[in-house]
Amino acid sequence: MGRIGIIGGSGLYNIETLKKVKKISLTTPFGKPSDKFIIGKLEGREVVFLPRHGLGHRISPSGVNYRANIYGMKKLGVERILSVTACGSLKEEIKPLDFVVVDQFVDRTNQARAMTFFEEGIVAHIVFAHPVCPELSRVLYQSCIDTGVAVHSRGTYINMEGPAFSTLAESNLYRQWGMDIIGMTNMAEARLAREAEICYSSLACVTDYDCWHPQQESVTIDMVIQNLARNIENAKKILVRVVKNLPRVRDCSCKDALKYAIITDKKLIPEKTRKDLKIIIGKYL
Ligand SMILES: [Zn+2]
Repeated sequence: MGRIGIIGGSGLYNIETLKKVKKISLTTPFGKPSDKFIIGKLEGREVVFLPRHGLGHRISPSGVNYRANIYGMKKLGVERILSVTACGSLKEEIKPLDFVVVDQFVDRTNQARAMTFFEEGIVAHIVFAHPVCPELSRVLYQSCIDTGVAVHSRGTYINMEGPAFSTLAESNLYRQWGMDIIGMTNMAEARLAREAEICYSSLACVTDYDCWHPQQESVTIDMVIQNLARNIENAKKILVRVVKNLPRVRDCSCKDALKYAIITDKKLIPEKTRKDLKIIIGKYL
């Protein structure tokens, strides 16, 4: 049975209810992850926690080594990742302090961040029409309901580059595009997790109305942190429920994401790439 990974965003830097905690430092072929991985037991199941921005929130969204973080999770035997993330709302009905179970992403980063494992001597095209795991998202949504929080069962997350928040013109543009929420980090994780055949779902905690809302003041870091602090206790309760309720064995297609994705002639994949990506592509070579 695979481990369950949790990536904590702004405001979530540890999970106090983890038992028998071990800390593990890893280096990967893609560099260093955001911090030490914290492994422990929750509801009798093995959980691996990583603070996305490092302890003390040292790493900006553009500077997070997403590849090293997901690679590290894979190396530690993680089969599913729950992401917890702060976001802004682009719709009136998605209110601050609500939760959103993200089901779609739109990329508006400037590509400064690496979003694929397949660059050196190997080409692989994963299917990404539905970028989150349906099974994990279902359990996540139900766990929000059981916890009694206000939750939206779906939402499109536009991934901006940051670190500055949006201009008013950008915020209005994204609203016209029909986007639901805005954040700075999740898309790279979702893509890399799919490439690594790890299930991925995102619990987005709404902290503000970005800057478009006429009756609300524009987003400030103070507002984000205050609302997040109010919601992080709920987020922790939700996570415990998800871990408890997840079926032991995965019944989704995430685990076979690479089955038909690698297009490069296997004889031509360089030795170094084979070695670096062994934990991801080894079973297909
Ligand atoms: Zn899955």
